[in-house]
Amino acid sequence: MRRVTDAAELDGLSRDAGPATMVPKVAYFASTESEVVAAIREAEAAGLPVTPRGGGTGIPTQSVGRGALVIQTDSTAALSGELVTCGPGLVKADLNRYLVQGDRWLPVDPSSYASCTVGGMVANNSSGARSLKYGSTIEYVSGLRVALPGGDAFTAAALPLGDAGSGDQKRQRAVALLTENQKAIAEEAPRVTKNSSGYRLERVVHDGVLDFPRLFVGSEGTLGVTTQATLRVVKRPSWRALFVVDTSLAALDHDVGAFRSLRPAALELVDKSVFRRVGRWDRVAPYSRSDDQYMLFCELDGEGSQGEAMERAGSSQVAGLEPMALSDPADVQSAWEVRNETLSLALEIRDGPRSLAPGVEDLVVPPDKLGELVRLLTGQFESRGLGYILYGHAGDANLHARPLVDGSGQEGKGTMRELMDECFERVWKMGGSMTGEHGDGMLRAGYVERQYPRTYWIMKEIKAIFDPKMVMNPGVKLA
Ligand SMILES: Cc1cc2nc3c(=O)[nH]c(=O)nc-3n(C[C@H](O)[C@H](O)[C@H](O)COP(=O)(O)OP(=O)(O)OC[C@H]3O[C@@H](n4cnc5c(N)ncnc54)[C@H](O)[C@@H]3O)c2cc1C
Repeated sequence: MRRVTDAAELDGLSRDAGPATMVPKVAYFASTESEVVAAIREAEAAGLPVTPRGGGTGIPTQSVGRGALVIQTDSTAALSGELVTCGPGLVKADLNRYLVQGDRWLPVDPSSYASCTVGGMVANNSSGARSLKYGSTIEYVSGLRVALPGGDAFTAAALPLGDAGSGDQKRQRAVALLTENQKAIAEEAPRVTKNSSGYRLERVVHDGVLDFPRLFVGSEGTLGVTTQATLRVVKRPSWRALFVVDTSLAALDHDVGAFRSLRPAALELVDKSVFRRVGRWDRVAPYSRSDDQYMLFCELDGEGSQGEAMERAGSSQVAGLEPMALSDPADVQSAWEVRNETLSLALEIRDGPRSLAPGVEDLVVPPDKLGELVRLLTGQFESRGLGYILYGHAGDANLHARPLVDGSGQEGKGTMRELMDECFERVWKMGGSMTGEHGDGMLRAGYVERQYPRTYWIMKEIKAIFDPKMVMNPGVKLA
């Protein structure tokens, strides 16, 4: 284990992709579970809170802290049939490369896949453009090893409901909480296709099993440190075809509806203005055919004949939109690289002291309420005279919107608080969630109780069961 106390190195670990900077007292680079356990023990003995950290690409301030950082460096992978067992430090792009050998794929690729880790993806229940068809990380977690505060490490596995209550005390208490309150949990769950707010209580009991790993998926390092993840992987599709069309916010509902009829793997909104503002119009120029500010990317994939899919597209309502059709794998890949660059480029945008602030950057609503979400966001920004960007997972009605504000001053902070207050309330009324994939972090922790007024207490109890001394990532997710 490497223990870091050097000021310059700690400074380098004081930022993630969120708004706050926090310099840790110490950082542990641990490569095995026993080293993670030792690091947690040492931090606890010194009275320091523990923040697990992977690639540090988390957005809502969640992988930085003022105590001890634990960075799990194990980046091994071992494929066995439909399961791959990974070290949490494995970067998603490396996992993809490794899985090519078995013609397999973990079909969740966050745009940050070149630097985010398996540990971070599990902790955030991350998703990607193709989550429309394939779902989020939670769908693929089969088992976890987790190091807990107090020096324990245990295996989280799915168990038949009848057997689930017979384990140690921690497990028995968690099982009782989840099974006795199943009705309230189900009733309060957002009606969305993806969600990363609060603990994923509504996904733990399903199909006659108690799926323990799902309690830790999306827990943002607040319950323990994942030291190993066993994930289900699927066969890679034999073909992909990408349809690209210009659109506007006024036409979005119609165009998304037309593409949805094709049952796509991905249906993404691209904001061309991001590329114009940072002087990278060359990246979108090959795909842009009008002055409309937005584009839709719709991907179909499958086995067997690609021709049939192309015909399906040609004979559907989509035909009237006259999309550009890309079917060569290299062309499809190049177009996706443009989409995936959006946030990294957007973070360069400045207007004097103003930059693009997170807060309402990951709202998700039921898919049929996409138009309502667009009107909410544009209305909120325009009524305050704020410039903004808007892109994301249109098929899931999960939009990444950021206004340009001066986040360093009181005025900008006040504006963001108002925006969050008003947008979250409206999204909850629509049956949505304040975060579809980025998580709550410290940025939204103060709102989780308002999203889950009936079941927040269960989340607090779960936290108390696994982390009674509140050592793990305090201030993240649970206020
Ligand atoms: C440019 C950009 C694009 C992005 N695109 C997407 C996207 O398309 N989809 C998406 O879902 N997200 C996206 N994100 C958000 C982020 O990249 C993902 O949430 C990612 O999975 C985080 O992984 P990480 O390794 O960087 O985790 P970190 O940022 O290091 O940590 C994230 C959280 O996980 C916890 N954690 C990390 N490792 C462990 C562990 N071993 N055990 C327990 N907890 C742990 C941390 O404490 C923290 O709470 C994007 C971010 C950026 C900056």
